[in-house]
Amino acid sequence: MDTRTYDIDGFTEELVAHGLIIPTGVPGAYGRGPVFEDILRRFDALVVREAAPDGAQELTFPPILARRLIEQLGYLDNFPQLAGSVHSFTGSDREARELSERVHAGERWEDLLSPTEVMLTPAACYPVYPTFSGLLPQGGRLVTIMNWVFRHEPSPEPTRLQHFRMREYIRVGRPEDVQAWRDAWLQRGLELLGRLKLPVASDVASDPFFGRAGRMMAASQVDQRLKFEILCPVISREKPTAICSFNWHQEHFTSRFGIRQHDGGVAHTACLGFGLERVTLALVKTHGYDPADWPRDVRSLLWNDA
Ligand code: ATP
Ligand code: ZN
Ligand code: MG
Repeated sequence: MDTRTYDIDGFTEELVAHGLIIPTGVPGAYGRGPVFEDILRRFDALVVREAAPDGAQELTFPPILARRLIEQLGYLDNFPQLAGSVHSFTGSDREARELSERVHAGERWEDLLSPTEVMLTPAACYPVYPTFSGLLPQGGRLVTIMNWVFRHEPSPEPTRLQHFRMREYIRVGRPEDVQAWRDAWLQRGLELLGRLKLPVASDVASDPFFGRAGRMMAASQVDQRLKFEILCPVISREKPTAICSFNWHQEHFTSRFGIRQHDGGVAHTACLGFGLERVTLALVKTHGYDPADWPRDVRSLLWNDA
């Protein structure tokens, strides 16, 4: 019987008291203390070690995306409520003085800024799809990316952040290979998180598509079993938190970016993403605030590179 309490406020206070996270005054924008960061990086390294035999190509992108790419990806059709746009000042001397005066007078000043050519990256995999354009090599491709992502979903839950990190793997190739890869990784993810003694389970899931039309898209996503999540109780026993997601996009990206198999056949994509902050919080919730007290086999998986 799990006797832990799942009081959000109590958990956040303990995380702060133990120096794991540092409040900044903005919901979902905590700083990370050294112990938190050590756990997170070691979990990320464990995933990379586990996946090493697959030979994924590691790519690195900045946490900003071309505004044009966000448009092409269809992000603003589906998730406008989560988007983050970068604005900057491009005005005259007179407007600069006005900006400064308004700031010091405590007045609103944001309308003096103009949109830049970039938005904040909402999913680590997004910048990779245009790089697949054209004919794929035989067997398709496998890429991995770790990046900071932004989502405008401010919340008191320490598990729902505005800026967090994802370790993603992205597969593109023959539809049946891509689906089989996604299904195999769901089992692999469950097994890996199980070895860390997390009380995980998987379930079919949907994305938070915006509005009334969005509810139909979410229902169709569930019907087609396009998205699965691995869930672990962190702030609630009844509503466990998604710590890893597995998405089969079918032709959503390959049709937009002209991605075809080596012989010209239809290609699909799928991606999986470990939410690194959420896995760290799940480990802390399950095993305690001080990793020195964690079960020996969990420690040896994360701290010995054996
Ligand atoms: P949720 O249903 O909880 O909003 P999601 O479906 O939006 O999660 P994905 O878009 O699939 O999640 O993102 C991949 C992973 O990133 C998730 O499995 C989760 O671990 C993590 N994640 C998603 N949103 C957040 C957030 N706001 N704060 C921290 N981690 C997150
Ligand atoms: Zn992805
Ligand atoms: Mg979400």
